[in-house]
Amino acid sequence: MLGRWGNTNLWHNGLIPISQNDLVGREFAEVVADARPFTDEVASALFFTSESFSRAYAALVSELSGIAARAGITADGIDCLVYPKKYRKLAVDGRVNQFYSVSKTGFQVEDGRLRTVGFRAGGKEYSIDADIVIVAAGAFGSPKVLREIILASGNSPAGLGTGFIDHPMGFVGKVRFSRETSGLIRQFSAYDKGAYVSRNAVRLRSDCGRYTCCAFFRPAMTMDNRLTIYKYKSLLGASSGLARLRNACSWKLFHPDILAEIVSHLFGLIIPSRIFNILFIAEQKRGANRVYYDGEQLRVDWSISAEELGVYRSLLEKLKGLLSGVAEEVNLVTDIDDDWLWSAAHHSCTVGLGSGSEALVDRDLKLKYLDNVFVCDGSIIQEHSYANTGLAIGQLAFRLARRVLDVQAN
Ligand SMILES: Cc1cc2nc3c(=O)[nH]c(=O)nc-3n(C[C@H](O)[C@H](O)[C@H](O)COP(=O)(O)OP(=O)(O)OC[C@H]3O[C@@H](n4cnc5c(N)ncnc54)[C@H](O)[C@@H]3O)c2cc1C
Repeated sequence: MLGRWGNTNLWHNGLIPISQNDLVGREFAEVVADARPFTDEVASALFFTSESFSRAYAALVSELSGIAARAGITADGIDCLVYPKKYRKLAVDGRVNQFYSVSKTGFQVEDGRLRTVGFRAGGKEYSIDADIVIVAAGAFGSPKVLREIILASGNSPAGLGTGFIDHPMGFVGKVRFSRETSGLIRQFSAYDKGAYVSRNAVRLRSDCGRYTCCAFFRPAMTMDNRLTIYKYKSLLGASSGLARLRNACSWKLFHPDILAEIVSHLFGLIIPSRIFNILFIAEQKRGANRVYYDGEQLRVDWSISAEELGVYRSLLEKLKGLLSGVAEEVNLVTDIDDDWLWSAAHHSCTVGLGSGSEALVDRDLKLKYLDNVFVCDGSIIQEHSYANTGLAIGQLAFRLARRVLDVQAN
């Protein structure tokens, strides 16, 4: 049963692994480590086809660390977000029977297994005997599907949907470098390797060691540091088709920074400026945020906690200190409130994983209450520092597929 309109249809195919060293929870760290051997296979399925992703990524981190060190911008290391230049929309293998826009789903449970999945699609009723069921409806969709399954199993779905995390992100400032340093920062900002481009970030680790955030540098034209312009840029970038056209009808389109961004996107040009925008990507931890359904209506309770905001401010102070030592001018707001930050659409952690009482799936991604139901999508990502989630979801999916095939073979 498939929905056509998931986030995977919208994404930009940027690939970055979740670093195990950034994970606080031991059990999820072990799951991520266990999924690592699948990295190259997944990256290749996600259009990184020129070489081994793991080797290329390790080489990039080493090379870019050198460039960052020469520019004097190394804080707690650097990381690389890798964009294959050629990619297509992901499509389901043609050998898979596909049903879209399903309604009236129903689940029948017997002897600790999900026996049948019923639904209506294209005006017809279906009842399919289930061998293995993998729920992959995303961090917003899976809690709804799982709720029905858990209730059918006679258990309580308590805690489902709670713990939701995302990456709060935002442009927080501008920095101007000297002529010599700006050449290095330009390379660091977007490192072109022919078949792919690596956009690179300075890692920022909190004093408490629990949070790892990062900052990217994007070429800009002015030192103007205005939230309204950043919000407009984000709106323009996130919209498409008619909505983008509508958003383009604004005087803000003519701000030099926006024009520069458009030209660089349209023509793939790197603006030879000495000024850079600072894009901050922040980590959240599992807490009280949640997604739930009011009837059929999805509700998302998402906010940034006072602790998180405090951490972000201190990390921005750290970044300001670092940049002030090497830049000609820094215009960075460190005392941000949550108005400066918005969702990066890396929706995660709405299904607890592990052996704890809150957990609903075990380390094999199997639902606690049933022997043949698994969950694999953003919902089971328990922590993600600043890392985009696509590669990690792919690694976990390939790992799960291997396990299911191995169990069936025995
Ligand atoms: C604009 C944008 C750019 C992004 N860029 C990147 C990037 O460069 N790199 C990266 O790693 N990540 C990126 N992401 C994030 C990435 O797209 C998501 O992390 C990832 O796609 C999530 O995958 P998922 O399987 O959890 O959910 P989804 O891709 O949302 O898939 C869930 C599917 O389940 C279906 N569904 C939901 N409910 C039901 C139901 N009740 N019954 C049946 N089907 C249902 C949905 O229609 C959907 O098809 C981006 C996201 C956005 C929005």
